[in-house]
Amino acid sequence: MKAAVWHGYKDVRIEEVAEPTPKKGQVKIAVDWAGICGTDRHEYEGPNFIPVKKPHRLTGRVAPLIIGHEFSGRIVELGEDVDGWKVGDRVTANGSLTCGKCEACRSGRYNICQKLGFLGVGDDGAFANYVVVEAAKLFRIPEGVSQREAAVAEPLACGIHATNLMGDMNGKDVVVIGPGIIGLSAFFGAKYAGASRILVSGIGDYRRELVERYGGTYIDSSKADLEEYVRTWGDGRLADIVYECIGAEKTLDQAIRITKPGGKLMVMGVFGKKPTVDMNTLQEAERILYTSQAHVNEIATALEYMKEGKIRADELITKEVTLDTLTEEGFEYLIGHGPENIKVLIKIGEEK
Ligand SMILES: [Zn+2]
Ligand SMILES: [Zn+2]
Repeated sequence: MKAAVWHGYKDVRIEEVAEPTPKKGQVKIAVDWAGICGTDRHEYEGPNFIPVKKPHRLTGRVAPLIIGHEFSGRIVELGEDVDGWKVGDRVTANGSLTCGKCEACRSGRYNICQKLGFLGVGDDGAFANYVVVEAAKLFRIPEGVSQREAAVAEPLACGIHATNLMGDMNGKDVVVIGPGIIGLSAFFGAKYAGASRILVSGIGDYRRELVERYGGTYIDSSKADLEEYVRTWGDGRLADIVYECIGAEKTLDQAIRITKPGGKLMVMGVFGKKPTVDMNTLQEAERILYTSQAHVNEIATALEYMKEGKIRADELITKEVTLDTLTEEGFEYLIGHGPENIKVLIKIGEEK
């Protein structure tokens, strides 16, 4: 089969490799569509998480390995002891790799497993004709949701999970800093959990139309002062809930300053550089700091939102590539055109 194999920094090769075989409890899936995630871009550009020398803590794997964890496909083979699934089922999956034994796994919070890994980082992933996944991590794609749309469910689950961690969202004024796919997942998560008003802050106007179409307010933070804007927007009040979806000291600082006393701040951004955190501003008014890591069962909710027409995934797909064009038109292109793109998909199979 054809696969995108990571060998090192800026060295992803499209190669012919052997098809994987499902072990006990696993299924083999023919991949139709796969999504390029921010983490895949990090693997390409560095700093990477794919183990190069020290074997992965859960799987024991080291590079080279097949990248990618966001995908949709159809089951083509079942391993031993797989119940409830059959060949031909349309599926997507949670790409986390977990031990199943630690305290977090046993309590159902497998997204914070002690040995957590991801497909495409700790084991062979989905940028290939076939991928093998644990049946326990599968989600059925509902009628009315296409394979193409379903490939976007995984990143959308991140914002739904983060929202669920913070409890009651009803009537809350929310600010989302960062309008990439993760910021948008937070936007949708908050919106459909009952938030009252949502302001999305980003640089440039790429997302204004989209956010406004879904009833949100958009601010270009390169032109206006976010803190001032939030005070006006909130009639002098700061935000009840703020999501930081960039991962930079500057936006973390902004996020702390626009969270109201007693309000909640959710950090979803992944930081390239260790930030200095203004703990005094957090502490002086009992602002509550949350963090979120991937998701557990929220892909099901994302697929449900798509089925109900609450999220039109088509509008989030801004570009399509193939495995053959992945490096040039996917990774290299995204380095220069990040903000314009929400989700770049790789068309791998034949299904729409
Ligand atoms: Zn992802
Ligand atoms: Zn575990």
